Amino acid sequence: MATAETAFTGNAKQQRSPSTPMATEPPAPANQPMYASRPEIYPRSVKGAFRKLKWAGLWVLLGLYYIGPWLRWDRGPGAPDQALLIDMPGRRAYFFGLEIWPQEIYYITGLLILGAVGLFLVTAWAGRVWCGFTCPQTVWTDLFMWVERKIEGDRNARMRLDKGPLTASKTFKKVTKHIAWLFIALVTGGAWIMYFTDAPTFVVDFVTGQASTALYGFTALFTATTYVLAGWAREQVCIYMCPWPRFQGAMFDEDSLIVTYEEWRGEPRGGARKNQSFEGRGHCVDCGMCWQVCPTGVDIRKGQQMACIGCALCVDACNNIMDRFGLPGDLITYDSINNQLARAKGEPTRKRWFRPRILVYIGVLTIVASIMVFSLATRSRLEVNVLRDRSPLFVKLSDGDIRNGYTFKILNMEREAKTYTLTTDGINGATMAVIGHQKESVPTVELPVKPDDVAPFRIFVTAPRAALDGKSTDLDFVLTDNHTGEIVEHATVFAGPGQ
Ligand code: SF4
Ligand code: SF4
Repeated sequence: MATAETAFTGNAKQQRSPSTPMATEPPAPANQPMYASRPEIYPRSVKGAFRKLKWAGLWVLLGLYYIGPWLRWDRGPGAPDQALLIDMPGRRAYFFGLEIWPQEIYYITGLLILGAVGLFLVTAWAGRVWCGFTCPQTVWTDLFMWVERKIEGDRNARMRLDKGPLTASKTFKKVTKHIAWLFIALVTGGAWIMYFTDAPTFVVDFVTGQASTALYGFTALFTATTYVLAGWAREQVCIYMCPWPRFQGAMFDEDSLIVTYEEWRGEPRGGARKNQSFEGRGHCVDCGMCWQVCPTGVDIRKGQQMACIGCALCVDACNNIMDRFGLPGDLITYDSINNQLARAKGEPTRKRWFRPRILVYIGVLTIVASIMVFSLATRSRLEVNVLRDRSPLFVKLSDGDIRNGYTFKILNMEREAKTYTLTTDGINGATMAVIGHQKESVPTVELPVKPDDVAPFRIFVTAPRAALDGKSTDLDFVLTDNHTGEIVEHATVFAGPGQ
């Protein structure tokens, strides 16, 4: 492997690779056909502050993802004890002590809004941090590249291996790499499934061949997508498939942090030897390290590009080179446009963290988060749905009274059996009969509901004709929790024949 030391002694041949005519230019397809074939990218390993940050983020995020389904949370008998679970058959989402019913899907909407605005805020502050450090595509591609490097070696070794003939050693390395990738993809796909079913049960069922066809199918699907996207597609997902790079520019301003090359300091570039004078020339020694470490093959010296995911590995690479030549760091810098312009003019730099757009994002985040926290803290665990019979609208009884039918559903979202008292309000003399519970029509009925259940009741409300206001009279159902005293009211109408 050509070391950085040899690369900057002016021996350009040592930088050249079999697939690249010039080491200082990233590979590009010849003649630019309408659909260009993908130039293979062989990212070189690099050391530095941003690489350390990326490793830390990668291991933390992967750890959280793989460990997540194994965390337990005691919710009492009969309830799943998995801390993070989306229970599709049971129609519930569990997040530690929080239990979301389908009727409360707006909390998921709130979370998505928080996520989106949070992303806008981070992008306006620090550029493509999401893309470069935390996006699953970036994290798994980084992991797959790490595995590839461990098995096939660094950039030059991999290039030699791919160019070379098919030998036993090459076959062994390639097969080992793909087995390792498939194993990671299987664990990743399986972990995703575990967020939707009990993790220990799934693992036992999966390895003993007792899991359902659907579970095997979905595991295979997510295994295949992980393997293809992180192993084969890699940077093409960011460049061609992902919509985010296409509109994230709207969040940037001149004070957002971005990765850029300080052209005013780097040009005119050229090869250099150690201890030589840089008087009258730029600091870029044209070593090509910046694009050789780039996971998307970008030469950042050509200016900002959509393919640049902001991972800052080129900053590390260039800083290492600047160190070797005793030059100031940050020729490729992770800083704002304003600060770069200030440095070019010899003016002091400054960080403007709180700009109007940042304050707007923080404001929206605060409002949405406050609404969600307040709503969660005060949410009722009792809900009522009422559906009035449409056919017939009403029945005239032999004694002249009018009867309406309703389907009355009580959602008991607590894990204990409840008994509720139901009354009506708005029509004098109204009484109720409940099929299977209350045969005679009475003013007040008791309704039992099992723990964590939705109980439907067929209720017939009977009212004296004289108490009605024509064809439609307002009627309230008033439901009281006998244990807590919590009251839920539901407004509806009572249909009559008119005057
Ligand atoms: S910008 Fe830095 S890393 Fe890139 S070619 Fe110039 S000196 Fe090398
Ligand atoms: S140009 Fe630099 S910051 Fe952009 S993707 Fe490549 S290495 Fe990362």
